Amino acid sequence: MMAEPAHRVVLEQRAADKIESGELPAPGGGITRAGAGSGMACDLCAHEIEKAKIEYEVEWCKGEALRLLRFHLDCFQAWIANRPQPDCQRLPRVERN
Ligand SMILES: [Zn+2]
Repeated sequence: MMAEPAHRVVLEQRAADKIESGELPAPGGGITRAGAGSGMACDLCAHEIEKAKIEYEVEWCKGEALRLLRFHLDCFQAWIANRPQPDCQRLPRVERN
C-alpha cells in the first residue's frame, strides 16, 4: 500500500486554480507525450523538471498559438484529476469521521 500522497491534494488544488484562472487548459484534449526531463520549469509547480525524471508534455492549442505544457508525473496526474466528470464515476476515497 502506498503512502498517502498528501501533496497530491495540494497539487490538484493548484491545478484547479490555474484552470480556473486560464493559466492551464481543462485537461482532456491535446496530444500528450512522456519523455525525459528537459530541465525546464513545470507548468504546474514551477519547479525544474530534472533530466533524470519523467516529463509529460501536452500540446495545447490556445487560439492560433500552440503552447507546450510541461509537467512532472505527479503534476500531470494532478492536472488530469481535474478533468470535468459527470458526477462520480468511481467512489472517492472514503473518509470516516
Ligand atoms: Zn511539477
